[in-house]
Amino acid sequence: MSCLFCEIVEKKRPARIIYEDAYALAFEDINPQAPVHALVVPKKHISTSLEIMPDDNWLVGHLFQIANRIAAEKGIAERGYRLVMNCNRDAGQTVFHIHLHVIGGRAMHWPPG
Ligand code: AMP
Ligand code: ZN
Repeated sequence: MSCLFCEIVEKKRPARIIYEDAYALAFEDINPQAPVHALVVPKKHISTSLEIMPDDNWLVGHLFQIANRIAAEKGIAERGYRLVMNCNRDAGQTVFHIHLHVIGGRAMHWPPG
């Protein structure tokens, strides 16, 4: 089974990587929706948020810790930023390897489109 983000994790596909550790990777979104738009992914393949199991709880929390660190490094922590994880069709999920969007650098609208 081929997975775009597994390929990025395995360095078989290029990406602008901004953070990496043993469990997770973060890189710039190829089609940014704001001045800051990064994606934080677990190295382990999990297709959608529906497949997050209790054993993954630490890992998912870790993704948030990395997102917060990116927000601080990019200078958007105080102004604010949005963390998004889309699940399945109605949410617009297009890559089926979970990823936390870190979006900021401009004012966001609510409700989202
Ligand atoms: P989602 O719609 O929540 O599944 O988000 C998928 C995101 O992945 C979109 O924001 C895309 O712009 C982004 N994306 C797709 N391919 C790549 C890639 N090769 N490198 C970086 N980001 C990508
Ligand atoms: Zn994957």
